Amino acid sequence: MDQQKAEKLLADASEALKAGYYDESYRLFKEALAIYKNLGDEQKAGQCELEAEEVKSKSAGCAPLPAVDYHAHPVFRSTLKKDPPLYMAARHFRLKDEVVPENIADMVRHMDEGNVEKAVIMALDTTASDHWAFQGQFLTNDGVAEIVKTYPDRFIGYGAVDPRRPDAVEEVERCIKELKFKGMKFHPGAVRLYPNDEKYFYPIYEKCVELGVPVQSHCGTTGLYFTKIKYTMPLGYDDVAVDFPTLKLVLLHFGIGGWHDQAMSVAFRHPNVYIDISGASPRIIPQSIILAANTPFYQDKIIFGTDYPFVGMAQWFSTFNKVLKDVWTPETKRKVLRENALGLHEKPPVSPLDILRKEGIDVPPEAKR
Ligand SMILES: [Zn+2]
Repeated sequence: MDQQKAEKLLADASEALKAGYYDESYRLFKEALAIYKNLGDEQKAGQCELEAEEVKSKSAGCAPLPAVDYHAHPVFRSTLKKDPPLYMAARHFRLKDEVVPENIADMVRHMDEGNVEKAVIMALDTTASDHWAFQGQFLTNDGVAEIVKTYPDRFIGYGAVDPRRPDAVEEVERCIKELKFKGMKFHPGAVRLYPNDEKYFYPIYEKCVELGVPVQSHCGTTGLYFTKIKYTMPLGYDDVAVDFPTLKLVLLHFGIGGWHDQAMSVAFRHPNVYIDISGASPRIIPQSIILAANTPFYQDKIIFGTDYPFVGMAQWFSTFNKVLKDVWTPETKRKVLRENALGLHEKPPVSPLDILRKEGIDVPPEAKR
């Protein structure tokens, strides 16, 4: 009986190892080891011990399970020199040349090294800006679509559009319907508009609700030069969430730079608002977010991302394995590092008004918020 159980554990452990579920594989090898020890099968026990140690060393610099990076940029060495705001950001962050990919194949290799199965990638469109530094574009929506087409299993495309473009809403529709993107990305600091700008941003959110796609938007300070960070403070997003209660909204970078508690306050009160932890090494993510991730309330709301190449994927995980791996429960890791990002594109948003209506609580039929 025990013999069979141990054999099954061994088989499952090898299966998990092959699929990149390193934590799980290690746990299963250890469980099998305990049974073989009990049975007095020293040889098998020794083999399990060896395998478990191998899994441990193999996964020291990568994700404990196939991760989904919710925020990564296909930025290459050649791109940086063409884009003044990005170049200044890279310089500011003392980004070493060797961590910046030369091409998309390099980026995929970096994903493999970090055990990152998929990454959400996006362009940045500031072409309607009146600031010289933002009038160019290093990557277009069509460029993103091309990358996704080449690596459909590795990348999830998000669209980007400068809200001041006269065809902004049409471009959102094209991104989702024609280019098959799964969401939209905005950087209010780069386009110098508040996220709750009713003239420019609201028609876009309206369209995203209609199309049923999430929006990710920059929240917190930024290394991107020539931007203004008053536009990226968390509180503006509270208006957006109140006015578009069924819009899935992800606050990129968790209000980094001191506003993380505000970002958490916004996520706390709105069922469809999420926090992404990209743009920071696990060592500097605020403790309040780290601890909240283990609570049932925030466990579904916090989403892993790197902001690659500004933060390297394997580098993020090698730090994670040192400082966070044993802080987060297996369930937190599964959700934050993988499932929450996938769920954004798979599950419908929560509708507060529908909940009330279902309970028979009076809500005027024409009420939208
Ligand atoms: Zn970014």
